[in-house]
Amino acid sequence: MFDAVLIEKSDSGQEAGLSRIDTSQLPQGDVLVEVAWSTLNYKDALAITGASPVVRSFPMVPGIDFAGVVVESSHSAFEPGDRVVLNGWGVGERHWGGLAARARVSGDWLVPLPEGISLRNAMAIGTAGYTAMLCVMALERTGVMPDSGEVVVTGAAGGVGSIATMFLAARGYRVAAVTGRMTEADYLTSLGATTIIDRAEFTQVGRPLAKERWAGAIDVAGGVVLANVLASMRYRGVVAACGLAGGMELTTTVAPFILRGVTLVGIDSVMCPKSERLIVWQRLAHEVDMARLEAMTTEVQLSNVVALAPRFLEGEVRGRILVPVNPQID
Ligand code: NDP
Repeated sequence: MFDAVLIEKSDSGQEAGLSRIDTSQLPQGDVLVEVAWSTLNYKDALAITGASPVVRSFPMVPGIDFAGVVVESSHSAFEPGDRVVLNGWGVGERHWGGLAARARVSGDWLVPLPEGISLRNAMAIGTAGYTAMLCVMALERTGVMPDSGEVVVTGAAGGVGSIATMFLAARGYRVAAVTGRMTEADYLTSLGATTIIDRAEFTQVGRPLAKERWAGAIDVAGGVVLANVLASMRYRGVVAACGLAGGMELTTTVAPFILRGVTLVGIDSVMCPKSERLIVWQRLAHEVDMARLEAMTTEVQLSNVVALAPRFLEGEVRGRILVPVNPQID
């Protein structure tokens, strides 16, 4: 028996709490993993609170990512003792996830952890860092380089935003960090942001085209914020859109696209092909400044995850939330 966060549904609604479950209750899969570290992401908070229909079947163990050690495997690519990381693939939504001491999953979903990175650091990066790297790679692929001009990051004090800010700055980009928490200005400066902008400047519906400011953008907000970012892009600027923390809808015009040649690139981490994940994780293992990463990381015990979830959705959480599940195996 081991600890797991379990979301159950009854006629009166859904309820989440810490439960004891047995390995035999885990879903089917060809690899059994002992989870060393998991994390709490925005999507996990949606799942735990039921604020959005993220969970597709009940009961569900949430947790869209984990890092751990293989215990049993009938998958040709993995054997007991291998260190692995998992992000997405519907884990924590349709298949029991990482907020538990053990997980049984398809080996096709696992990425072998590159040499030189601990399981803890892999999860300090987590889905937020992996998504931030997908965004940075999208900017690079479309020609936005450090000398192209300033890059704006929205939701900068959150998980994806913090890591995106840190990556970009470390690569020599000038980063403008947009935040609803100006009290986090020093934190954002410590990550390498050169300009801090109050989110309030982006929350009113603006004109189809505004002053040209940004060569690139990483947007976790969606909604009006994204519409205003699009309107402020410089000629041939590129926006990597990955989130909806400010809203699912997007009301804009074609003006940024047909008059300024702006590109809007969609970023999905969940079903991203494995070949790209392997490249992303190699880069993460070698290019992340682990000391800076540590500064944006807070640990929360598995037993406290459910209580923290609503605060996450209120935008009160800074940086990355790490959950030590079996940290002794790291
Ligand atoms: P966090 O909660 O850590 O960060 C979100 C940040 O967004 C907050 O910290 C806050 O930053 C900002 N924010 C909060 N409310 C609003 C609002 N109303 N309007 C504008 N900005 C707001 O979440 P994550 O970093 O884990 O995830 C960010 C987003 O990216 C989420 O929507 C998540 O679902 C999505 N995501 C998508 C992935 C994909 O594959 N496409 C993968 C991972 C995440 P601040 O206080 O600085 O303003």
